[in-house]
Order: sequence, then C-alpha cells, then structure tokens
Amino acid sequence: MKALLDRARSFGRRVGFESDAYRKLAVGQFPEALFISCSDSRVIPALITGARPGEIFELRNAGNIVPAYGRQGSAGGAAATIEYALDVLGVQNVVVCGHSHCGAMGAVRDGADLTRLPLVDAWLDQVRDGLAPVVKEGAALAEVVQANVRNQLAVLRHYPVVRRLVEEGRLRLHGWYYEIDTGIVHELGDDGRFRVHAS
Ligand SMILES: [Zn+2]
Repeated sequence: MKALLDRARSFGRRVGFESDAYRKLAVGQFPEALFISCSDSRVIPALITGARPGEIFELRNAGNIVPAYGRQGSAGGAAATIEYALDVLGVQNVVVCGHSHCGAMGAVRDGADLTRLPLVDAWLDQVRDGLAPVVKEGAALAEVVQANVRNQLAVLRHYPVVRRLVEEGRLRLHGWYYEIDTGIVHELGDDGRFRVHAS
C-alpha cells in the first residue's frame, strides 16, 4: 500500500495539472462512452483504450453485469450509473467488456459453492439462468464470458432509454472480450461472434 500512497501523494506534481487539458476538466465531463467492465484489478479500461480523464464513464462490478431494468433492487448503483450516463451525460457508445480468467464467470461455470459469500452468490444469480445453456454444454471459460457479454447487452437493450436512443441512431452498443495475458481485444460483430480487428 505504501507505494500506492506515495504515488497518490505525488500525483499532482508528477502530472502536468497546470496544462489546459486538466483545467478544462473543471468545466464538466463529456465522455464518449460508458464502459461496463469487471472489477478485476487486471482490467484497466483507460489503459486498454488509452482514454484520458473525461473520455470514458465507468461502471465496474464483479462479472460486468447489467442489472435487469425495473427488477426489485435494481435501483442500485449499477442501474443509476447507466441511467445517468445515457440520460444526463449523453454518451453515444456503451461498451460491455468481459475478460479472460474472470473469477466471477469461472464461479458460475464451475457451479462454485458460494454459501460463505452470500452477497456474491446473490449478485451472480442474476446471470446464472442466462448462462445455463453454455454452462450445461461444458463450454470453456472464454465462451461463458463471451455469452455473458451478449446477455448483458440484451439486458441493456431492455432499458427504455437504451431502446429509444438506439432506435434514434444516437447510441451504439459494443461487446468486447479482453485477454488479460495478451492484451488482445475481441469485438462482437453483428453475427454474434467475437473477432480480433487489425488496428
Ligand atoms: Zn472478472
């Protein structure tokens, strides 16, 4: 922790905060995208995308899960973050990004006993039914993570604000699968398959 603390204490000096780019941040935020990813410490959206402060609005939780719209209890941080990003900030893109070696998705795939983690258990319960077909097939973890990204995008499409903005052509939804050990980003295509695009 000491190294993290030292870097935080010197951050303002290490970074050129006197520059216009940082001063402009005080005016407001105008992010291009809402980035929904796992809380996993090995997934760093700004590192992957090269985003600078103000460019992406982040929602992170175990398993990059989008709570079903209107479900009791969904008036939590995740649903509120989505509503705020779309209705107030007017982001034009949403990225749902799953990742390799995901502990949350691994627990779902393996049917891990989570009785000692009742909150994690309840959280992951949101995705178990949707993933049951691939889990039953004995799919590899990558396939389970990718299926979860597809499912979470489908949940997102049930948000009235998402449906409206997509219909109006003002919002695009993206699915990504990120490999933590190679840095490779696979993008979900219209055909429902993930592919690597050359930059
Ligand atoms: Zn994860």
